[in-house]
Amino acid sequence: MISGMDLKALFSIQYGLYIVSTKADGRNNGQIANVVFQVTSQPAQIAICLSKNNLTHDLVKKSGIFGVSVLEQNTPMKLIGTFGYKSGRDIDKFEGVNFETGPAGCPLVKDNALSVMEARVTGVMEVGSHTLFVGELTCASCLKECPAMTYEYYHQVKKGKSPENAPTYQNVSGQPKKVEEKVTMKNYICNVCGYVYDPSVGDPDNGVAPGTPFDKVPDAWVCPVCGVGKDQFTEE
Ligand code: FE
Repeated sequence: MISGMDLKALFSIQYGLYIVSTKADGRNNGQIANVVFQVTSQPAQIAICLSKNNLTHDLVKKSGIFGVSVLEQNTPMKLIGTFGYKSGRDIDKFEGVNFETGPAGCPLVKDNALSVMEARVTGVMEVGSHTLFVGELTCASCLKECPAMTYEYYHQVKKGKSPENAPTYQNVSGQPKKVEEKVTMKNYICNVCGYVYDPSVGDPDNGVAPGTPFDKVPDAWVCPVCGVGKDQFTEE
């Protein structure tokens, strides 16, 4: 008999990384989500799961529409940071972002997206801290062919951390193992968002070559996820 409760088992479930978007009261908003999946093919319906703490959640409830952008593997941390670690209560996340509107009026983010789709809500299920929304597609479009970002890749290679409102957030030990590690250079962690600067990886998206130790990273460099300065990092 298998008993016990090793929550690390949950890490073996595979997810992607998506931007879920909506528009309500004339306001565009969106967030990073990793729980998006197809539930039926006829009609084509997909489901999303959003934290009740997030503004996007409230706006989807209001509008009854949502969009999904499937992110590509080399999506820069900056885009993930904008949609994942900042709140639409403070900023317009769509400023400077390339998007188009779907037939139901939802803004669909095209930057770094393999595909975009829009859905009208057909079912809502309360699941404690989160709400599961099911929606029937109103449009779907393939934008480019390349590997999709998986949640595993995001954690292991991009060194991303789950926002606390992600359904899969785990406040337990058992983080995925590092892909490679150089003992001579230390990792530094962002005190604000948990992004880890790994010298062997650098931050090529922002001009820091792999192999750059943290003290050689330019002073003007900021956390690629949340935007704070180097002084907010501590040795991991
Ligand atoms: Fe950060």
